[in-house]
Amino acid sequence: MSSALLTGSEPQRSARTVQSVDPVTGTVWREYAAAGPAEVRAAVERARATQPAWAALPVSKRADALGRFHAALVRRRHDVADVLTRETGKATADATSSEILTTLDFARFFAREAVRLQRAPWRRAASLSMFRKRVRIEHMPLGVVGVISPWNYPFMLAAGVVLPALVTGNAVVLKPSELTPTSGVILGELLAEAGIPDGVLSVLPGDGATGAALTSSPVDKVFFTGSVGTGRKVADACAALGITCSLELGGNDAAIVLADANLATAARGIAWGRFTNAGQSCVAPKRVFVVDAVYDRFMAVLRTEVEAPAPMGDGGAASQPLIRQAQADVLEAQLADALALGARVVARASERAASGAAFPPTVIADATPAMRVMREETFGPLLPVVRVRDAEDAIARANASDYGLSASIWTKDLARGIEVADRIDAGTVCINDVLVVAGMADVPHGGVKGSGTGRSHGVAGLLECVRTKTIVAERWNGWRQPWWSSSTAEQARGLDAFVQLAHGSSLLARLRGVAGTIRMLRR
Ligand code: NDP
Repeated sequence: MSSALLTGSEPQRSARTVQSVDPVTGTVWREYAAAGPAEVRAAVERARATQPAWAALPVSKRADALGRFHAALVRRRHDVADVLTRETGKATADATSSEILTTLDFARFFAREAVRLQRAPWRRAASLSMFRKRVRIEHMPLGVVGVISPWNYPFMLAAGVVLPALVTGNAVVLKPSELTPTSGVILGELLAEAGIPDGVLSVLPGDGATGAALTSSPVDKVFFTGSVGTGRKVADACAALGITCSLELGGNDAAIVLADANLATAARGIAWGRFTNAGQSCVAPKRVFVVDAVYDRFMAVLRTEVEAPAPMGDGGAASQPLIRQAQADVLEAQLADALALGARVVARASERAASGAAFPPTVIADATPAMRVMREETFGPLLPVVRVRDAEDAIARANASDYGLSASIWTKDLARGIEVADRIDAGTVCINDVLVVAGMADVPHGGVKGSGTGRSHGVAGLLECVRTKTIVAERWNGWRQPWWSSSTAEQARGLDAFVQLAHGSSLLARLRGVAGTIRMLRR
């Protein structure tokens, strides 16, 4: 596993470095040489050289490696939690639930499902005209894949792509975010401990230029998770080389609160979903639409949730800081824009003793479509709420967005919730919950519209890592195929009889085709 860790006392081995800065203290606690084009090229070549032997192993052996990774992660979970809290500022409880538990679930799920997917049993062909054929659909690895991951859930989002790619027989070059390189490095260490051969997985700490070098390399696919802006650059770079890519991008998710919702649950769920991880979650509720009938009551409960929030952060009272000051600056600009266009702050958490880049959880009312908060992703604890006439109005406004990652519906009537969910343009919809879908191993996650094209997790996530190869075998070897005959009028009559036999609308019609078909087969 390649990653050059530099400490303060070592000489700098690269012109560029990436620094892991503790968002709470602002101190640099790890520094790595940033991989340049030469290192990226070398990692891709090593991956290319080692991948065939890895792919040639039975899938059960690769699944065993995921089993060993699972055991190693259970054993070293406290080390991983330490890295995550240090590198992202999230609380140990959050690192454990949203990153470590989910990754353990991924390892189990992908190990089991890859064996099912790649077992490739023989079966009979489905159509009567092919009744002599046996078919087998193999799910072959793509070869070498590049994985580019973000910083907000840096361990589980990388693992959610790296694990299915490896278990299906691919070699992987992973470029973690420059803000969270150690989370990628420790993932690589655990996989190396689990027996993933050297070269089959390379972790390359680096910056945007490292990512760009990877997308201009001869890989077979790029899996990108990150912002819409960078995602477009990745898509362009891949298109220029004819490489496919999977894009998991940002969102501006709607939460719809219907008149019959349990308002306490809705307010608690929406507040948690928006403010956990300091609001830095791709599938957080970022626009709330509340029907007029319950708007005032909902806002009263939400205000209580925001102004007396549950403590977040290991210090008990301290909240999780944003990853960097630049994030807080963007949020301040988005808030100022909303206020200038007529929004009102209706709830703001009291400033707490958070170190680092702080932006207190804030709720604004009277948001309109012209405001940045409604058009752009807000990647922090800022929540616009909109009063709507009814469910129809809410659906129309929720769908009036360039994004379509996820959404949530809050109602006591499950059937009504499903009806509304079916009409929302999003990759996933939760009813009476938020966020969880992105951490569930067995269901696909991904967006529509500007939120991307790919699917991670679930069997769909495994299918993103393979290509199908179909094998068709003749069982009656030595027999001529009827269609090998010349295209004579007699042959046409025989085939016409066969059409009746195979596709006639009644039993009688089908029986009428039997004699002609037998005559054709005898010729
Ligand atoms: P960015 O788009 O800034 O970065 C994502 C990754 O791309 C990083 O590793 C980054 O490297 C790398 N990168 C930067 N420039 C290039 C380039 N030119 N070519 C290739 N790679 C490049 O996103 P963030 O890390 O800020 O993540 C937050 C965003 O991710 C939010 O929009 C969020 O909604 C989205 N997201 C989407 C998820 C989903 O599943 N749909 C899940 C989680 C987040 P470096 O950091 O070193 O610059």
